[in-house]
Parts: sequence; C-alpha cells; structure tokens
Amino acid sequence: MNRKVAVIGLGSTGSMALWHLSRTPGVDAIGFEQFGIGHGYGAYTGESRLFRMAYHEGTTYVPLLRRARELWHQLGAASARQLLHNFGVLSTGREDSLAFQSLLQSVEDHDLAHERLTAKQMRLRYPGLDSRDDEAGVLDLHGGALRPELAVLSAIEQSERNGAIVQDHTGITRIEDTGSGVRIHTENTEEMVDQVIVTTGAWSSSVMPEIKDLIEVRKLALTWFLPKIPANFTPDRMPCFIRDRKGFHIFGAPSVDGYSVKIAGLDLWGGPNNPRIEESDLRLERRAVSEFGRKVHDLFPGVMPEPNRYSVHYDTYTSSKAPIIDRVGDVVILTGGSGHAFKLAPAYAELATQLAGAGELPPGEFSISSHEPVARPLAS
Ligand SMILES: Cc1cc2nc3c(=O)[nH]c(=O)nc-3n(C[C@H](O)[C@H](O)[C@H](O)COP(=O)(O)OP(=O)(O)OC[C@H]3O[C@@H](n4cnc5c(N)ncnc54)[C@H](O)[C@@H]3O)c2cc1C
Repeated sequence: MNRKVAVIGLGSTGSMALWHLSRTPGVDAIGFEQFGIGHGYGAYTGESRLFRMAYHEGTTYVPLLRRARELWHQLGAASARQLLHNFGVLSTGREDSLAFQSLLQSVEDHDLAHERLTAKQMRLRYPGLDSRDDEAGVLDLHGGALRPELAVLSAIEQSERNGAIVQDHTGITRIEDTGSGVRIHTENTEEMVDQVIVTTGAWSSSVMPEIKDLIEVRKLALTWFLPKIPANFTPDRMPCFIRDRKGFHIFGAPSVDGYSVKIAGLDLWGGPNNPRIEESDLRLERRAVSEFGRKVHDLFPGVMPEPNRYSVHYDTYTSSKAPIIDRVGDVVILTGGSGHAFKLAPAYAELATQLAGAGELPPGEFSISSHEPVARPLAS
C-alpha cells in the first residue's frame, strides 16, 4: 500500500517538496495551501531571486547548490519554461575585505566557473554599475536570476500532472502526531496521513509552536529605480549583482521590463507589525524609502534617486541563517530560509522528502538541536 504524505504550505519550498513526492514511487502526495495558488503573501514574490554558486556562507551549501541547479533545469524542462536566467552574478567589494576574500576562497576551493574583474573592466563592460576605483569583482558564471512566481506555479502544475492532489484555500490549524500517523486539522475537517512535511514559512510558529524560539519573522523590502539610460541596465549590459560598499549591502538584477531596475537592500526595514503576515501593513516609511534611494543613487548615479516602486515581503530567519530541516516522529519541518533559500528550495525540499522516507540525513547544522534560540529585543 502507498504511503500518504502531506505537504503543508505550497510556497517556495512546499511546492518543490510536493513535486519531489509526486515523483516518488509508492507515495500518494497531497498539498495544502491556506491561500490561492501563487498568492502574493509568500516569501517568493517580487519578480526575481538571485541564484549563485559562489557562496561565502559556508561550504555545506556548494554541493546543495550544484544539486539545486540541476533541479531548476529539470523543472524548467518539464514545464517548458525558462525559470533560471543565466545572467551571471557579479559580487563587488574592496579586494582586501574579509567578505571578498572568503568569496574568492570559496570559488577557488570548489573550482567554480568565475571571472575576476578590475574596476576598469567592470566600467567598460557594465556602465550602469559605475564601479569605483577601489572596487573589485568576481563574476559567478553559473549565477543568474530565477523567476520565483513562475517556479512555484510550475512545481505545483507538474505535481498535479504526476498525480498529486492540491487543496488550496485550506489553512491547517493543527497537526497531531498520533504515533501511527499524523492527524491534520483544518477549521472544520480532519484527515489522517502517514507523514507530514511542514513548509509554512513565516507562519511556522503557529503550526509548529515547538520551534517558535528558534525562528523570527523579518520584514524585507525590494525596490526598483528608473534608469536615465535604460539600455545600460538590460541583461546584455548588466548581470545580477551584489555590491558591498562601506557597510552598505545591496543587490539587484537587470531590468526585465526595459524601464526599471531592481536595486534592493533586503533587511533594513524592521520586523512585522502583525503576526498574521497577510494582515500586516505592506507599506514602508516614506522618509526611509527616500533616504535609501539617495544612498543607492550615490552608488548608481545612472538611476533616479527616488525608488519608483517597492514591495514588502516576509521571511523566517534562524540565528545562524542555516535552515531547519529535521524530523520529529512523523513530522518533517523545513523552514528558516533566512533571506537566501529560494535558490536552494528544490535541494532543501529534496532533503525534506528523503527525510520523510527515512532517506539520507541533511547536514547536521540543519537539525533542530543545532539551532540556538534567536535573540529577541529586551522589553523596555
Ligand atoms: C524580498 C526577498 C528577497 C529574497 N531574495 C532572495 C534571493 O535573491 N535569493 C534567494 O535564494 N533567496 C532569497 N530570499 C529568500 C527566499 O525567497 C525565502 O527564504 C524562501 O522563499 C522561503 O520559502 P518558504 O517556503 O519558507 O516560505 P513561503 O514561500 O512563504 O511559503 C510558505 C507557504 O506556506 C503557506 N502556509 C503557511 N501556513 C499555512 C497553513 N497553516 N496552512 C496551509 N498553508 C500555509 C503560505 O501561505 C505560503 O504559501 C528572499 C526573500 C525575500 C522575502
């Protein structure tokens, strides 16, 4: 008899988990999503997500990134869509900085396809970046931009095509591990399955209260600017980039609409003001937006100083920024994307589905026991 495995939360990682389960022999896969499929409250919205192989965050990630890249190509081929655009990712910074040196170390240690560029070379090749004399660059040749909304949709479509059941507008209020299966509760129904994979992102504390001290929800924002010469910001003249200068950390992607360019400082915007993300205020403080715009304009004189639009999103962070991927009884939890999990979503999800089937264990640093509680600000 087939195992029945449920995925709770069909966003970035959950859609990928359902896709893996739907391809696993002997598994009946069912996915639950509290909102409509492809809704706008998930951590995956906002036009693009950077994919890069050059990772100063730690060597644990490089094999996972290699696997993720294969899986992105598989999903793209199965759905006949280009999900990963190979624009390259250029990381720039002062050559003698620790971050730049550890990035170089990582590309060299793992023999990753890359190019080193001087400021002069960057100015010639990428005029929109306006590189300063003291900036050096490493171009990750396998990096680029993912289309996150399309990727989630594609994984869910492929899962259904492979026979998985998708129940949207179905919020799970509670899960109960009975020792011989897991009972899943909605407002007015319940259902028994053999195992559950919980991928509820910023809502994880309400579904898995036992890990609430290990995660925090952060408010992240994306901003777009109007270039004075749009042709300097299209993919043929600009890669994706990560730019570190004097403690100002920003990233972006070339223009996809031909008139605006994403240049964002992800985590400068404070925590959520409502535990229910969908009811949170999705605006930013007007002066903070203008101030951020001025700082971006200092680095990119080729764009107008005021962002012409922005969007607010939420992601779940752990104290180490490593995800939680672990199993307690018949419940597997995958959360804590920490601002960098989209690129890895298919690889993380594969680990979670293997864990549900008693397969290979994820790296030790992803286990619940190796995560420290997140530091909370002291009440005044
Ligand atoms: C603005 C921004 C920029 C980022 N940039 C990058 C980047 O460039 N590169 C990169 O790799 N990563 C990036 N990240 C990080 C990455 O996008 C996130 O880590 C990742 O999307 C988190 O995925 P998730 O599956 O945990 O959450 P989500 O994608 O939010 O999915 C959670 C899903 O669970 C559903 N759900 C929750 N509770 C329930 C319930 N009780 N019942 C049913 N369904 C439920 C939700 O509705 C949602 O659909 C960025 C994140 C943000 C926010």
